[in-house]
Amino acid sequence: MPMGQTTDETAARAVRPQPGIMEISPYVGGESHVEGVGEVIKLSSNENPSGPGDAAREAFARTVHVLHRYPSSDHAALRAAIAQVHGLDADRIICGAGSDEVIAFLCQAYVGPGDEVIHTEHGFAMYRISALAAGATPVEVPERRRVVDVDAILAACTGRTRLVFVANPANPTGTMIAGAEIARLAEGLPAGTLLVLDGAYAEYVEGFDGGAQLVDRRENVVMTRTFSKLYGLGGLRIGWGYGPAHVIDVLNRIRGPFNLSQAQLVTAEAAVRDRDHARRCRVENARLRAWLAAKLASVGVPSDPSQTNFILARFASRSEAEACDAFLRARGIIVRRVAGYKLPDCLRISIGDEAACRRVADAVVRFREARR
Ligand SMILES: *Cc1c(COP(=O)(O)O)cnc(C)c1O
Repeated sequence: MPMGQTTDETAARAVRPQPGIMEISPYVGGESHVEGVGEVIKLSSNENPSGPGDAAREAFARTVHVLHRYPSSDHAALRAAIAQVHGLDADRIICGAGSDEVIAFLCQAYVGPGDEVIHTEHGFAMYRISALAAGATPVEVPERRRVVDVDAILAACTGRTRLVFVANPANPTGTMIAGAEIARLAEGLPAGTLLVLDGAYAEYVEGFDGGAQLVDRRENVVMTRTFSKLYGLGGLRIGWGYGPAHVIDVLNRIRGPFNLSQAQLVTAEAAVRDRDHARRCRVENARLRAWLAAKLASVGVPSDPSQTNFILARFASRSEAEACDAFLRARGIIVRRVAGYKLPDCLRISIGDEAACRRVADAVVRFREARR
């Protein structure tokens, strides 16, 4: 062995990351290619098949003229637009590169070695990743038949619990718990524990505020939201948070001043103001979701009533879910395996456009018929 190599290995071993980092299994996104298949239908990342509306597209295109300018660092125009549309206090909104960044800020600001971060059994992967990245200990709490269990969360709280993450509606289950249950959770948490309500899918629920009113009433609740789902802007990376003044002040201290580009800011502002596009997307999603769920149920593939832009299709066993996934892939249809979310017998299927919904429904029907 050449001497240089030994030295390099020794040097590499001497350079160590912070505790917890090597426990992170990197996030795996939805796939977008199938080996040997040209045209695929991607239903693996809960993207809005329509993308953003015309107003947002035009706002994005105009930014080509200002690429040499630094963007706003206080995001005042975007925060004002969000506040106006949702009836919130603009001073208590923070914007980030996706809600993932807001989740990371929360962990960076509030937890470290020795602290516990609660997420639920089938909870979104980024909670665990961000907790570990901050050196804290993720604590997984059971759900009750794919629904968040408030009593189980309260029972799991200890003197070290600093953050509790709950997505409502949740991913990848698609289920939701009532506002009164969320309020009971916020009320029952120990002092010094912050509840984070992840509202990534809140826009899909007609009339739902994502927990904003609870945020207004309490000092221990924060809500995160995103432009990646209903607004069709996953590729651009824009999210936001709404919280008590003391929390937003803390998060703004660690936020980079230019964490959002001008393209992100103006496109999101146009998108949130375009209520017609948002409404059309919500209505179309609900229509196709009901159709797809019923079609699958008619061939023995049930799903919990979903409040989101996907359904969690349940099969008889892990091997049947894997076989169906392979059957779909061979036909160029990519859905999401969710074994990593402790749902090995399920496939998460995003609601695509009408043609995509028909394609995936027909394929699942044929898969089931072939196994009869
Ligand atoms: C998609 C999703 C997000 C949003 O992530 P962004 O970083 O805003 O794209 C957050 N939480 C959950 C549960 C999600 O499914």
